[in-house]
Amino acid sequence: MQVLILGSGVIGTSVAYYLARAGHEVTVLERQPAPALETSFGNAGEVSPGYSAPWAGPGVPVKAIKWMLMRHSPLVIKPMLDPAMWLWGLAMLRNCTQARYEINKGRMVRLAEYSRDCLKALRADTGIAYDERMQGTLQLFRTQQQLDGTSKDVEVLQASGVPYQLLDREGCVQYEPALAAVKQKFVGGLRLPGDETGDCFKFTQALARLAQAEGVRFRFGVNIQAIEHDAGKGVTAVRTDAGNFTADRYVVALGSYSPALVKPLGIALPVYPVKGFSITVPITDAGGAPESTVMDETFKVAVTRLGDRIRVGGTAQLSGFDLRLDASRRDTLEHVVTDLFPRGGNVRDASFWTGLRPMTPDGTPVIGATRIPNLMLSTGHGTLGWTMAAGTGRVMADLIAGRAPGIDMDGLTVARYGG
Ligand SMILES: Cc1cc2nc3c(=O)[nH]c(=O)nc-3n(C[C@H](O)[C@H](O)[C@H](O)COP(=O)(O)OP(=O)(O)OC[C@H]3O[C@@H](n4cnc5c(N)ncnc54)[C@H](O)[C@@H]3O)c2cc1C
Repeated sequence: MQVLILGSGVIGTSVAYYLARAGHEVTVLERQPAPALETSFGNAGEVSPGYSAPWAGPGVPVKAIKWMLMRHSPLVIKPMLDPAMWLWGLAMLRNCTQARYEINKGRMVRLAEYSRDCLKALRADTGIAYDERMQGTLQLFRTQQQLDGTSKDVEVLQASGVPYQLLDREGCVQYEPALAAVKQKFVGGLRLPGDETGDCFKFTQALARLAQAEGVRFRFGVNIQAIEHDAGKGVTAVRTDAGNFTADRYVVALGSYSPALVKPLGIALPVYPVKGFSITVPITDAGGAPESTVMDETFKVAVTRLGDRIRVGGTAQLSGFDLRLDASRRDTLEHVVTDLFPRGGNVRDASFWTGLRPMTPDGTPVIGATRIPNLMLSTGHGTLGWTMAAGTGRVMADLIAGRAPGIDMDGLTVARYGG
């Protein structure tokens, strides 16, 4: 079957790879000169099924107000006349009940756990390398209140069968030796030994090369302008500045830019760009750098070891598609890494990056079929696109081949939004 994939971030590239392995004829359209140059470029590097949870949860509206008053706030909302932003925000608030949280988390964990298994199999199959580490992740608590507040999270981890360890200061230092120098700054942590880390950009580039070797054609520098549609036939072509492209099946994997292209087809996709930032610091003293990921719970900033670099990522900013690099966000990231890993590297040498998380209001991505028989979606992966990429690719390839996917698709498709 001929399949056209729109977008070559970590999601579109994963879908392309698995489809090609299944013997399909795949073309990928991408506006950038190479894969993973937008949101999949500089993320925090966590492959974290253990942290797969929606941002919308009970207590979040109150926490959000407190966060916005902090100097190094994890949440920034730029008041704008953007109806999509406010509608998305309201929909997110409606998901802040315990009942919705449990449903949404269940869906996310289902895909994330499956995805980790797929990633492991992919590594074993191909030997793909991406500065990967399999040393778990550590959520670090600076206050006793944060540590005491973990009981709910622990209940959820137990219920989902996710292994975890509650650690005191010494326990944290055992896994992250560099923290010994700043022991007075935290009281303990929650470690998820099953989580992994790695460079999403390196992974996507390597996977694209493997996909190419399987026959996938990447068309870079192509701007997708519209998806042509006929009521009887479904999608008839994809219009671009390099001409029209046709196929038997079409997969939209355009991250935050997906809703605008499917709207004219009558699909209302509530995916909104939630801006995040990262800095990447060259390591100057390996003993002073993290071993894996340390997630600073106070600032919601993740500090991850990626080979000879430290990646520091965080902040949720609602400001539309604006890609400006805000200096105050860099300050927050620098503050966290110098506070916890002062010897690891010099933040003056860091590179600064921003990306738009394609977020749904319930945290769960939108993957699989639509009402249009030859059109499928693979977007809305929000905070966890790297974590969920391999599983998404595998599921999409199975669906397109008409095989039952490895997980139940209930609640993962656009049907949950009436699309
Ligand atoms: C600061 C930050 C930290 C994060 N940390 C983590 C983490 O630790 N773990 C994790 O699992 N996830 C993390 N994420 C989320 C993760 O990075 C995203 O979910 C993921 O990259 C989304 O991938 P995607 O392929 O859907 O989107 P993208 O990578 O944005 O890919 C979409 C592609 O479509 C292309 N495109 C768009 N419009 C057009 C058009 N009109 N024509 C042609 N091409 C087009 C773009 O160029 C792009 O390459 C983080 C995100 C941010 C911002």
